[in-house]
Amino acid sequence: MKALVTGISGQDGYFLTQLLKSRKYEIHGIIRRNSSMGTGTMALLPDEVRDEVEIHYGDINDAHFVTSIIAREKPDELYHLAAQSFVGYSFQNPFSTYDSNIGGTLNICNAVKDVSSDTRFYFAATSELFGHPAQTPQNENTPFLPRNPYAISKLAGIWTTRTYRDAYKLFISNGILFNHESEVRGPEFVSRKISIGVAKIYRGSNNPILLGNLNAVKDWGYSKDYVYGMWQMLQQDTPDDFVLGTGESHTVRDFVEAAFKEIDIGLEWKGSGLNEVGICNGRTLVKVSKEFLRPLESENYRADYSKAKKKLKWEPKTNFQQLVKIMVRNDIARLGKAGLE
Ligand code: NAP
Repeated sequence: MKALVTGISGQDGYFLTQLLKSRKYEIHGIIRRNSSMGTGTMALLPDEVRDEVEIHYGDINDAHFVTSIIAREKPDELYHLAAQSFVGYSFQNPFSTYDSNIGGTLNICNAVKDVSSDTRFYFAATSELFGHPAQTPQNENTPFLPRNPYAISKLAGIWTTRTYRDAYKLFISNGILFNHESEVRGPEFVSRKISIGVAKIYRGSNNPILLGNLNAVKDWGYSKDYVYGMWQMLQQDTPDDFVLGTGESHTVRDFVEAAFKEIDIGLEWKGSGLNEVGICNGRTLVKVSKEFLRPLESENYRADYSKAKKKLKWEPKTNFQQLVKIMVRNDIARLGKAGLE
């Protein structure tokens, strides 16, 4: 079996590549060239996995490039993970977010339709589509009410893939995935910002962690569990859409407390709004910063993943506390090797 992965240099690409390698796939990945020729999370893969991946350098916004790779490789499975995936950045740069997430997705849909219509295709949709959700928990039938440019771009993406699936009888499955994190999550995402900040404090830093909305409610799982669900979606007899999540929600505040607990620090909260701080023994370890507040928050996320549980037999294996532990322990170990920045 041959798989093509866009966004292979991101978080999910890291875990999906290892899963595909364990299942003996021929793996092709698309990476955007940059001046340092950095390969993102691929650089962290074990040599024996990385060496097996054939990298194609290019941008998914380039329709000619996308079509020529898909025409040449005709993959059995295509995992379309590439996206500008950071909500905060999407408010600052909505156009480039639309470019990659809508234009790039359209290029892939067109290429599959035109040159490789037997390819099974996974599209990475998101719980951000629910925005300010009409119901809790959210499932495949919950209305989409996006509240940020990232979510709007994914709304266009999922409607494009659904339309192509119906119009051209393509095998396209959409994963509506709730937040999933890991030790290779981008450092700008709140979960990783917390785990890195806590690890630095453990290693002796005096800098408090600066965060935005401490009361944002998320459903957080572990990326490794979720890429297995993506793969399962493409092993079904028919294409479909599935919600993957944990069914548990936690606030950013819960994440912070759990992360500090890993280094035996019990936090106390004082003040409110922009003046709220997390302290321990008189020392300020967490501060709220206006810089990280969003113009509009998406809220109250909790997944109802009963369809995936029933049809895919998928369930998350890693709970919230285990996830936090993995992330904090990894950052402490990494800083131990690298020293404090
Ligand atoms: P990620 O770490 O941000 O990875 C995204 C990847 O896409 C990066 O390798 C990035 O490459 C690449 N990319 C972006 N624009 C591109 C372009 N124009 N051409 C080629 N490559 C491009 O994201 P992730 O956490 O692995 O998530 C994977 C997918 O799932 C994304 O589509 C995301 O929106 C979606 N999703 C994620 C979550 C989550 O909680 N992680 C939840 C729901 C949905 P560069 O390094 O060059 O930028």
